[in-house]
Amino acid sequence: MSVMPAAFFGHGNPMNALERNRYTEAWRAFGRSVPRPRAILVVSAHWYVHATAITAMPQPRTLHDFFGFPQELFDVRYDAPGLPELYDEIADIVHPTWVGADIDSWGIDHGTWSVLRHAFPDADVPVVQLSINALKSFDYHLQLGAALAPLREDGVLVIGSGNVVHNLGGVSRALPDAGFDWAQRFDERAKEVMLSDPTEVGRLDGHRDYDLAVPTPDHFLPLLYVAGVAGATSTPAEVLVDGYAYGSLSMTAYTVGMTAPEVPGSGFAAPLPEGPPPDGANI
Ligand code: ZN
Repeated sequence: MSVMPAAFFGHGNPMNALERNRYTEAWRAFGRSVPRPRAILVVSAHWYVHATAITAMPQPRTLHDFFGFPQELFDVRYDAPGLPELYDEIADIVHPTWVGADIDSWGIDHGTWSVLRHAFPDADVPVVQLSINALKSFDYHLQLGAALAPLREDGVLVIGSGNVVHNLGGVSRALPDAGFDWAQRFDERAKEVMLSDPTEVGRLDGHRDYDLAVPTPDHFLPLLYVAGVAGATSTPAEVLVDGYAYGSLSMTAYTVGMTAPEVPGSGFAAPLPEGPPPDGANI
């Protein structure tokens, strides 16, 4: 079986699930370039809870964990199967870190399906999610990511889905395809680290712009898992696609262990729906 790459995707606002733009085309190019996985393990910003858990249901449901978006987004289903036996395999390789088996609380959230709908549109590869334990340190997340690295040799594609810069309170509708200076500084520094010494992303909380770029850690932490995989295999990341949306979101995506494919697309990230700012809309 082929050794799988790993990847991090900046998912932006959930409307990217329905649109076609240079980011979604990059996600599609990635999906076309990877060998067919046995399963996809996703660390999504949107499963940020007080536990480390893995979805272990045979048929995970599609979660619509946001509000203020059009009905067509609530109508999206991503009916990939689960792979309950992957729980035992992961629990074994991350030992002594304890992970729970979730059989009825989570499913496939929009951080996951907004990307996979483009990367794997047939939804025929099993999908498993790993929660982000909000109680744990950066080192814990990096080490757990490193522990997952051997899954690459077992046909499991490890994906992080978040945004390196994610400040919903700072969103500016006047800047649909640009980033504020502080957003660019932080994203560029993260890029330097990911391309040279990925485990150093665990020190980015000392960056001068960290508090603006990462006001809450949920969207940043998936990057640490991919950095952990990269560090464990001494494989620097490559940039798949980069850019900004609404001043305060970075859309940068990385691959680890594969040459990033050419991205044929154009156009900027999906527009936000009309209405009040999305702060609190859980995107
Ligand atoms: Zn999100």
